[in-house]
Amino acid sequence: MHIEPSFRKRYHKALSDTAMLKAVKNGTGRLRGQRATAIEAVGAERWMEFRNRAEAIRMHVIQHLDQYLEQLIDNVLKKGGHVCLAKTGEEAVQYISELAKKKNAKSILKSKSMVSEEIHLNPALEKQGCKVIESDLGEWIIQLAGETPSHIIAPAMHKNRFQVADLFNAVSDEKIPTEIADLCGFARKYLREKFLGIDIGITGCNFALADSGAITLCTNEGNARIISALSPTLVTIMGMERILPGLEELTVMLSLLARSATGQKLTVYNTLSTGVRKAEELDGPQEFHLVIVDNGRSKQLGTKYEKILNCIRCGSCLNACPVYRNIGGHAYGWVYPGPIGAVLSPLYQGMDKYGELAYATTLCGACTFACPVKIPLHDMLYALRNDKVELEKKGELAEDIAYKGWSATFASMSRYRFSIRMARRFQFPLVKAEKIAFGPPPISDWLKHRDMPALPNKFFHEIWPEMNKDRKE
Ligand code: SF4
Repeated sequence: MHIEPSFRKRYHKALSDTAMLKAVKNGTGRLRGQRATAIEAVGAERWMEFRNRAEAIRMHVIQHLDQYLEQLIDNVLKKGGHVCLAKTGEEAVQYISELAKKKNAKSILKSKSMVSEEIHLNPALEKQGCKVIESDLGEWIIQLAGETPSHIIAPAMHKNRFQVADLFNAVSDEKIPTEIADLCGFARKYLREKFLGIDIGITGCNFALADSGAITLCTNEGNARIISALSPTLVTIMGMERILPGLEELTVMLSLLARSATGQKLTVYNTLSTGVRKAEELDGPQEFHLVIVDNGRSKQLGTKYEKILNCIRCGSCLNACPVYRNIGGHAYGWVYPGPIGAVLSPLYQGMDKYGELAYATTLCGACTFACPVKIPLHDMLYALRNDKVELEKKGELAEDIAYKGWSATFASMSRYRFSIRMARRFQFPLVKAEKIAFGPPPISDWLKHRDMPALPNKFFHEIWPEMNKDRKE
């Protein structure tokens, strides 16, 4: 999938894709509604208690990450697993690729993992001749389309059922109807066969428990638990921050994750798997590898952005964000979209590549309000804008000019009144039905997607003396 290098080009492309925008609006609207119902059932006060508790748990873990990492690694090794602590994405890919070579793996079955997208694992494995099959429905759809995910929890949110049916028809001998039930039925039948004869299974990790070395997998389709049960060699890949001390903390996070993500009380399947199969066990891997990926995470420790490591990837901030809802996920250009992506991408991938995303926000704060672990996302986006200006020793040119003009105008009453008089006069040819109908760039970009009311003939402060005069009389 070709990704345009500039954010401006990407969002322009997104804004012209009406089918995608409709699908994203429907999808985010549905998830927001489900989340609101779930919170209402819990009660606002109790929800806030949950969030406070979750924030405290996550902050405690991040502030003691070295200890918890050590404990987790010890426990995985004790239970017969292998651990790779990868500083970069390349190191993680190399470790898994070498393992696949050693095992002479031909068939690799994967469950959803954002980290694997982050480090481009699939293309690397495919390059060495492995057939990698995504088992999560959304991931499989975008794999068939040759695309990347556009949402953290619903990777194919940008596609409608007709587009999905076309993709399924391309791999099927029969014509698949476009009803959701038929599409799911086909995917189930097709993917079920792939579960047999796997050489290696790869899963993501929602949370790893330090005190037992257990990996928690949350799915609604049950695919990750089948992979962890059937794969002779199992690889779990996780971001280094996805740790919890133990079961007690897990119970808080699970109910928060499900409610924030989809409005469920709990995800349908919550699997805890620990190490390799024991002699008396009927299933589970004979070999287990945990790949813990840093890839820019540890650089955030102790900085003003440290709290970003609290993220539990629920996707709630995406659904709340008016920018995401209007441009979809691919416009963000990297694997993490929405407000979380707009913060993570410049932090993990560099300000030079993704600094523009600090402007992909209205700073309305809806993301912060939606975040179950209370990450101050809009404050971070604001801080990133400051960093960008500091780094480049300049702001966005248009913004610079606009704010300088704004401040000069508002600093003097006579200048302000003069500007208003001029603006009223010059807006005249652009006005239609009391709205500015067209204008030069950048106003033309703005007008394509929003209304701009024309300046009224009189402002309140101009009417006020007249009104007051009437009152006195
Ligand atoms: S930043 Fe918060 S709301 Fe967004 S995905 Fe992470 S945990 Fe969820």
